[in-house]
Amino acid sequence: MLSVERLTVRFGPHPAVDRVDLRVDDGHVLAVLGPSGSGKSSLLRAVAGLEPLAGGRVRWDDHDLAGVPTHRRGFALMFQDGQLFDHLTVARNVGYALRLGLDRLDRQGRAASRRRVDELLDLVGLAGYGERLPRTLSGGERQRVALARSLAAEPRLLLLDEPLSALDAELRVRLGADLRRILTEAGTTALLVTHDQEEAFAVADRLAVMREGSVVQHGTTEEVWARPADAATALFLGYAR
Ligand code: ATP
Ligand code: MG
Repeated sequence: MLSVERLTVRFGPHPAVDRVDLRVDDGHVLAVLGPSGSGKSSLLRAVAGLEPLAGGRVRWDDHDLAGVPTHRRGFALMFQDGQLFDHLTVARNVGYALRLGLDRLDRQGRAASRRRVDELLDLVGLAGYGERLPRTLSGGERQRVALARSLAAEPRLLLLDEPLSALDAELRVRLGADLRRILTEAGTTALLVTHDQEEAFAVADRLAVMREGSVVQHGTTEEVWARPADAATALFLGYAR
């Protein structure tokens, strides 16, 4: 379980993230939904250990992660543009985390790693794509590869920063539903930040609404949709009233 308590991030006099409290229970997907500049990426980066905290803390179960470097947190990060290694095949991109830290895999290790890559490609709907190069893929396919690569390391928490925002509306909804299924099947705990309502509702089961550095409401997606905390939240969710 991830818990974030009174988390504060500052770049200047005004905090970009202002005493935010959040919790993501094991196996759940929380979306933090807010307009551009509301502090979502700063929050995510602070959880990952990529931004210093001006206050508050980040905990996994009962462990305070202060001083734990990013690569030792057991989290995986995925961004809007996927960031694949362009010179490596799809299979090598996905298998990257499996090989990391191993100078040389023996034959058994290589076979196991190949099987795991095939499983992951199957999971994201890209069976048979292993030998393709990233530049031959569509935007949606690239994001699927990026997702498979993030899942390969079996992170205890997946951090997603607008993973579908670069895609067109139709693909975003379709891949959003796929993403939810994939995370459910893999039992992955995830924290997703986005400015896109459709993306948030398609993927997450819990929602936190962020504005100007603060979380103004949180609950299940149904709760927030049924009872927006205030007029600004209602407008942002797309209520025409
Ligand atoms: P978007 O939806 O556009 O990605 P966001 O909600 O992710 O927005 P952040 O990127 O977290 O917002 O930025 C929050 C505020 O912090 C903004 O006012 C931004 O200008 C500021 N900020 C973010 N990173 C830095 C930085 N490295 N240095 C100075 N200011 C920053
Ligand atoms: Mg951002």
